[in-house]
Amino acid sequence: MSRVWLVTGANSGFGRAITLAAVAAGDVVVGAARRAGTLDDLVAAHPDQVEALVLDVTDIASIDAAVRDVLARHGRIDVLVNNAGRTHVGAMEEDTDGDLRSLFDVHVFGPAALVRAVLPGMRERRSGAIVQMSSMGGQMSFAGFSAYSGTKFALEGMTEALRDEVAPLGIRTLIVEPGAFRTSLMGNGTASGAELPDYEGTVGTTRKMVAGGDGDQPGDPAKAAALIIEALDADETPLHL
Ligand code: NDP
Repeated sequence: MSRVWLVTGANSGFGRAITLAAVAAGDVVVGAARRAGTLDDLVAAHPDQVEALVLDVTDIASIDAAVRDVLARHGRIDVLVNNAGRTHVGAMEEDTDGDLRSLFDVHVFGPAALVRAVLPGMRERRSGAIVQMSSMGGQMSFAGFSAYSGTKFALEGMTEALRDEVAPLGIRTLIVEPGAFRTSLMGNGTASGAELPDYEGTVGTTRKMVAGGDGDQPGDPAKAAALIIEALDADETPLHL
């Protein structure tokens, strides 16, 4: 039977690649994007398999209703992919509370609310999977990435506990830790860390890695998406990419 996926940030980068990989596997994807119209091409290309949902994951109050809407239309959510994210590069000394809170909203509070919203249905069916797009920065940190890594470490810590809580219920969890991939991620972050030691080096190296892929890393989100589906089916976590 085909699976029903809910993918956040489905219009770009990994979200788009995961959507296409799930479609290729014969599944149905509800693609969540915060900007209406950004999934029109995917919906037009796969009208029976891709549906668009407008969802800003930082709008916590809208999450329960969005999930209820998906459940009303499809009866279930088999796979939740908490993928939406953005970067932030800056010296901790310069980062504001607002910088930190807004990043926690996207990478921690939004995903947590989505997990809470999908779990009752998964628990009832005793099956389902939750994919958390973390980062290499969820395992280690570098100058300039205190805020970003802080959120991804938090996401990983929560998910390790979640795995122990839901595995006995037949629900899988997968933490994905990409290195540097060619997406729009490094283009959309703010950079406030001019005072960082070797700031140009840190940001420049990261941008170069993202632009070109890095060594034996795929760099290509489409290849990563295929590996994510494999790891999900094999129940192997975390997945380093
Ligand atoms: P992209 O910038 O290509 O995609 C990010 C997606 O998240 C976009 O669809 C964006 O929407 C969406 N998004 C951002 N904020 C919100 C929000 N508040 N509500 C809903 N959607 C939102 O980057 P990636 O594909 O690279 O990023 C996906 C995930 O992968 C992120 O969690 C990121 O941290 C992680 N990652 C990426 C790495 C890389 O090298 N690319 C490395 C490690 C981890 P919009 O288009 O409207 O901005």
